[in-house]
Amino acid sequence: MTKAETSPIRLVIHGGAGTLTRARLKKEREQAYTQVLEQSLTAGHAVLAAGGSSIDAVIAAIVVMEDSPLFNAGKGAVFSNAGRIELDASIMDGSTLMVGSVAGVTTIRNPIRAARAVMTQSEHVMLIGQGADAFAAEQGLEIVDPSYFYTQFRWDQLQKAIAQERLLRDHDALSDKPDAAEKMDQKHGTVGAVALDRHGNLAAGTSTGGITNKRFGRVGDSPIIGAGTYADNRSVAVSATGSGEMFIRTCAAFNTAAQVRLLHSSLIEAADNTLKDVAAIAGDGGLIVLDAKGNYAMRFNTRGMFRGIVGNDGIVRVEIFE
Ligand code: ASP
Repeated sequence: MTKAETSPIRLVIHGGAGTLTRARLKKEREQAYTQVLEQSLTAGHAVLAAGGSSIDAVIAAIVVMEDSPLFNAGKGAVFSNAGRIELDASIMDGSTLMVGSVAGVTTIRNPIRAARAVMTQSEHVMLIGQGADAFAAEQGLEIVDPSYFYTQFRWDQLQKAIAQERLLRDHDALSDKPDAAEKMDQKHGTVGAVALDRHGNLAAGTSTGGITNKRFGRVGDSPIIGAGTYADNRSVAVSATGSGEMFIRTCAAFNTAAQVRLLHSSLIEAADNTLKDVAAIAGDGGLIVLDAKGNYAMRFNTRGMFRGIVGNDGIVRVEIFE
């Protein structure tokens, strides 16, 4: 075996964090989520096992979750107050510190692909709204009618949120429970991936519909480099999910990477410190973190987080609860 074949490869993914409990998640729903998470890991692993780049692995893994109506990203994303679906995504290459992100896009089937196009095909790092949609079309990415993203469940969720005049994070796994409990239980459905390829390069990506009933062009942490996404070969790759405003205020992804690089914190310590900072300003959520040796952490200060890992052996492992 050549050195390249024995180098560690690793993919870690998340599909959102929240206060969901095992008792509340119906068996069939749990199976459905598990299946998509496994497909996502398998798709990303195939790229890494074939010697592909961590960026390509992150894209492959995230596209599977964007294409599933179960997650709050791509198809199945949440609605804004205006009844629109406005998607955010970002990607970062840890070997070059190149980044790309899009926010508030409405017609791009896979926003994570648009983020990569911004990174590799434009002189910019972040494009928003109509301009980003037009750029993606020019790049030959798949453009869909906004109705493609529609799901009845998300529409109903918006009507409920409007009736109660509040912002809602993702609730889909919890739809079977009574309203009072629902008010307390929140799950974030953003998706993300971090990968290490055979060449020792890290990458991170995150994609989301944001939060239900968001207004005025609200943008969360997911497309903000340093908040929802960060990757640097010298430290770690990070993808976040949770209360976006608080992840922006704490520069959550960069904060985690900086602790590893400058304080030599372990991945778990760094992630937990960041989540403490987030909790201190009344935020919650989770982080996935991966270093260039293949060490990883999947941390959250909620009851659960959809998450999974795969490494050289190709065995996919998915977990949801604590
Ligand atoms: N962080 C996302 C946002 O605020 C939401 C989530 O992770 O569920 O847009």
